[in-house]
Amino acid sequence: MSSGLYIHIPFCRTKCPYCDFYSVTQTEKMPLFIASLIREMKLYRGLFAPFDTIYLGGGTPSLLSSDQIKTILDALRKTFSFAPDTEIACEANPGDLTPEAATALRAAGINRITIGVQSFDDRVLAFLGRRHKASEAIAAIKNTREAGFANVGLDLIYGVPGQEIGRWLETLKTALSFVPEHLSCYQLTLELSTPLGSRLQRGELILPHDTLLHEFFTHTSETLEGAGYIHYEVSNFARGYDWMSRHNRKYWNHTPYLGLGPAAHSFAGRRRWWNHRSLDRYIGMVNAGLPPIGGTEILTREQVLLEALYLGMRTREGIDLERFAERYGCDLITEKGTALRALQEQGLITIQDGRLRPTRAGLAVSDSVSVI
Ligand code: SF4
Repeated sequence: MSSGLYIHIPFCRTKCPYCDFYSVTQTEKMPLFIASLIREMKLYRGLFAPFDTIYLGGGTPSLLSSDQIKTILDALRKTFSFAPDTEIACEANPGDLTPEAATALRAAGINRITIGVQSFDDRVLAFLGRRHKASEAIAAIKNTREAGFANVGLDLIYGVPGQEIGRWLETLKTALSFVPEHLSCYQLTLELSTPLGSRLQRGELILPHDTLLHEFFTHTSETLEGAGYIHYEVSNFARGYDWMSRHNRKYWNHTPYLGLGPAAHSFAGRRRWWNHRSLDRYIGMVNAGLPPIGGTEILTREQVLLEALYLGMRTREGIDLERFAERYGCDLITEKGTALRALQEQGLITIQDGRLRPTRAGLAVSDSVSVI
């Protein structure tokens, strides 16, 4: 099976107060970062099977100029081999997607774009500390379509303090009016290390109660499935099988992937490793000819098995029982039969045609469903 390639672009114009992803605002370091990234690529030449996905994530990849993106893609093509139909995805912030920028991204070879809309409600955007307004997100979507993007995804966030379900459904309705190929609907979670996380800890914010969050989840799933989307993973919806994120699916089924750039994670066999979460350290190590690896772990057979179970139960595709037994050496029906029957009785999973699948209710509580 082909591998996946992730590139972490660690720059943002400003830091959003809820975000825990690694990024810096020192955009003057972009040229040095790109030179280091090209050096890092060479450290892995020939070590992975041909790739069929490239994912430019971050941070804010759309902060790079189209020439810089083209430089990165050209270097990747010179270093690694790729399937002819490689999915080349890029995350973008609405404010960056002018008509010229969208056209240039398409011309550089990007064939899937994910726009960080987050909400079409300006009050929610202000709470989240986003730089854009809903009107800019709408303009960005139009610009990507006019630039010829046939595969457009929108990222949205729900479960913001004080948000009412009705207003969230308005955001979903607006999103649907653009007929995006893909929608990611993430529940707001706050790490304590972020400014909003600190406010939560000080008691200045209250996140919606679990019962309300469950309602958000159920309404989201029902609304989008009612509009013809496939709810194929806890937070992800596609307008058809072909529009599912090929790259993200690799994370969910233990396909090998290589992550380049600061804080990027990689996985192959049973080994997982991750780069230093510091741009300066990353640049320093790569330029000294060293892999900028900050940590590594070798998963035990039991860990791989539990992870496969956890990840499989977060997808509507679920788990093919025969393939699972072959790959992980565990017959789930024999070894976990009692727990599975209990979940079936609670309406959280189905077992049919040799597949274990979470129901919608099961997806909503997928973290606990996996404890079997
Ligand atoms: S949410 Fe996106 S734009 Fe905001 S700080 Fe995080 S990576 Fe940057």
